[in-house]
Amino acid sequence: MLETRSLELLTDALRRLDEGFTGLPAFQADIPGDQRMGAVLAEVAERLHDNFPYFHPLYAGQMLKPPHPVARAAYALATWVNPNNHALDGGRASSALEKEAVALIATMFGWHTHLGHLTSSGTIANLEALWVAGKLHPGKTILASEMAHYTHERISGVLQLPFEKVPADAQGHMDMAALEARLAAGDVGTVVVTMGTTGFGAVDPLPAVLRLKEKYGFRLHADAAYGGYFGLATNLGPEAADAFVHLGEVDSIVIDPHKHGLQPYGCGCVLFDDPAVGALYRHDSPYTYFSSAELHLGEISLECSRAGASAVALWATMRLLPLWPGGEFAQGLEASRRAALAFAQRLGEDDRWEVLCEPELDIVCWAPKSKPELSQAIFDEAARMDLHLALIQVHGRLWLRSVLMKPEHEGWLEDILIRLDRAYVLAAARHF
Ligand SMILES: *Cc1c(COP(=O)(O)O)cnc(C)c1O
Repeated sequence: MLETRSLELLTDALRRLDEGFTGLPAFQADIPGDQRMGAVLAEVAERLHDNFPYFHPLYAGQMLKPPHPVARAAYALATWVNPNNHALDGGRASSALEKEAVALIATMFGWHTHLGHLTSSGTIANLEALWVAGKLHPGKTILASEMAHYTHERISGVLQLPFEKVPADAQGHMDMAALEARLAAGDVGTVVVTMGTTGFGAVDPLPAVLRLKEKYGFRLHADAAYGGYFGLATNLGPEAADAFVHLGEVDSIVIDPHKHGLQPYGCGCVLFDDPAVGALYRHDSPYTYFSSAELHLGEISLECSRAGASAVALWATMRLLPLWPGGEFAQGLEASRRAALAFAQRLGEDDRWEVLCEPELDIVCWAPKSKPELSQAIFDEAARMDLHLALIQVHGRLWLRSVLMKPEHEGWLEDILIRLDRAYVLAAARHF
């Protein structure tokens, strides 16, 4: 069931990589434990059985998406060199690939003179964005919706910046009247908009926030960790589509290639519209240093050692599947979105279910109508039938939740619905 064709391609690519070093005197590294490696790897494989089958379309739970085989192979290939993108000394080629990869992501947002780099996660990427925001507006309050990722509140604590939550509407959007009321009260330095909340996939009304930015003048950060690539999809609803059209007008953006960008874990990205913020990372470096081609990524990153392999994998994936509207990558996102819309529609047509809200991206939240106590039992019964869902506590009750982020989910909807139906019947019978 697991994809293995990329192993042959990896072997070929390794041979090609080796050719680059044939000028050196022959050398084979000592491998301690060489004879026992096979046994240990077999044991590892056994231990890894204790996972949910994240790669399979019947895994329709949390925000987990398999990496593309080219990303996996490119990542592995790079580990034979094991570059460190902290500095050019540690990762020359992979630093160049990182800059190219990040520039391609920036282009998706319409940015051509950005500053940005990869991070080990969306959390660290958001930390950098809020750290910069705090440097520019010291001591001022950071606002995010109550449906924003909890990391913003925790990061603000780490940075010792005041943080406040703005109420959200029933669909999970930041409430604009509440935001304006708070802005009018003063002392707000930064507003965080979420371009696809982790809970429901709700897209904050960015155009309205931008109008408030003109009036009140705050720094605007977009957390697009999960949703950032959806600007490429042509089948969003009008409000979400309009928000993505304006994404390039914010001051900083976080996007996680390890969420929807087909990358293995360890790949977040932070981008700043104004490259001058690079000066904040090192006070003794002149601005011109940051726009020079000889930039060491460690000079604009709070993290020091970082996997060059992540940059290699991301670059390879975008080389294969460019971030073009209408391209294969965009089509994958559109399929996920169609799956979510179709799933929500089918649930809505069945009077046993209540759908929390119309999905804006590819997340669906629903619950057994008038029987909220059944959610947990349905979740358990579904898992027994290999259908893995997620749960979310919101509006004072427990809802079922599916992130339909694999394009294959669309073709598996009937199967998912059949299992869900059986899970409902069994759960209801047990609770009778
Ligand atoms: C996942 C996520 C984060 C955190 O990113 P990690 O890569 O898990 O550290 C932040 N914000 C949003 C909106 C997310 O979906």
